[in-house]
Amino acid sequence: MTIPEHFGERKEFLSRPEVAENSAFLREVGVFDHVNFLEQEIKNFRDLFTSTMDIFTRSTVEEIMDAAVRRISDYSSPSVVVFLWKPLQNREEIVIKGYKDYKPVDLGLNVPGISCFEPFFRKYPRPINYELFSFEFGQSEIFEYFDRVNPSLVIPIMGPSGGLYGMVLLGNKAMGQEYSIAELSFIQHFMSFVSLAIQNNLHYERTLRDVKTGLYNNAFFLTRLNEEIARSRRNEYKTSIIMLDIDHFKRINDTYGHIAGDRVLESLAITIKQALRSHDVPSRFGGEEFTVLLPDTGKDEAFLVAERLRNIVAEMDVPWEPSLPRITVSLGVCTFYGRTGVSSEEIMKRTDEALYMSKEQGRNRTTVWEGGLLDKIEKRFSGSYPPPRVSHGGGRGAT
Ligand code: GH3
Ligand code: MG
Ligand code: MG
Repeated sequence: MTIPEHFGERKEFLSRPEVAENSAFLREVGVFDHVNFLEQEIKNFRDLFTSTMDIFTRSTVEEIMDAAVRRISDYSSPSVVVFLWKPLQNREEIVIKGYKDYKPVDLGLNVPGISCFEPFFRKYPRPINYELFSFEFGQSEIFEYFDRVNPSLVIPIMGPSGGLYGMVLLGNKAMGQEYSIAELSFIQHFMSFVSLAIQNNLHYERTLRDVKTGLYNNAFFLTRLNEEIARSRRNEYKTSIIMLDIDHFKRINDTYGHIAGDRVLESLAITIKQALRSHDVPSRFGGEEFTVLLPDTGKDEAFLVAERLRNIVAEMDVPWEPSLPRITVSLGVCTFYGRTGVSSEEIMKRTDEALYMSKEQGRNRTTVWEGGLLDKIEKRFSGSYPPPRVSHGGGRGAT
């Protein structure tokens, strides 16, 4: 969208004979100053509008932050900008992204959490001068971290129900001057829109994730699976699915309680995620079952990934007192490619069948689903659960 320029009208106004004749008087009573002020205001609103449009077209929080820092630096020149935000509302974990001279930098801030500021910002949900903020808030060790970036403004990112999603710290101006009133006004207004854009994005991101583990949820997994099916039809490339189920998980719950069980699920999620490539899609299927989508991955490679997951899970320690026994997992793998022409339901069913075989054969192992004419004939004639052709035994089965 383009915004009409109005500066032509100023020339017209100044060249009018009655204005020229009375210019001394108009200057004296401040009409020209007022016109200048209004022009500046219009320019500010125009900048605010275009900057905001830019922010709302971004599709990830990272992109929003990058664009926000670029826009602010076009307008003003803060030495440092730090975004702190909570990707999951019910967890303390925060992500920090800092910019120095408009470039992303690692500021070495290890802020433990920002929830302690929530009551304050519930009362005063506005940008606030840092000195005033630290004075109003009183003693907190967190200010030791904040002081290091020498902030001058603190801007809260509030959720619709008043919860604190994040904060933005803005440093002093790069050349050491004070922010002008106009700059502060722009930054404050603009950052409220940036907060809104980040919030919208966080809400959207959260609808894709499982609350307990932070992994993707099954709805998102199925969306990605269908995208991969469509893509593999076009490009004839292979995609694999792994389904993974904790062995005898009920025993952990029964012996150590459900909270300990939850801690196992959380640790497992982290372990799985760390062992995968960034474009793999680990998700929680439900309960103690997880799925992984491996784009551009054939059967043999997927089997190796599954085995790697099985082995690292078997060595995983879960932080808990008293210490918990190590767990094992059973896995099923299924690979599809363009010519297969199968539906997502069929792919999930096959993966589930392979997992079922791993359980049947003693657990703590990986089975690769192997279809073929024989299976189909057997299925047709015996009506039995189709046994996969290939089964790779893992280690000893869990007891
Ligand atoms: P198998 O080796 O056959 O998979 O045995 P299992 O005990 O793991 O399987 P089963 O289906 O009998 O039990 C699954 C258990 O997972 C029962 C259920 O209470 C537990 N569970 C499911 N979701 C959660 C959760 O979110 N938290 C906790 N703590 N437990 C859960
Ligand atoms: Mg299960
Ligand atoms: Mg289980």
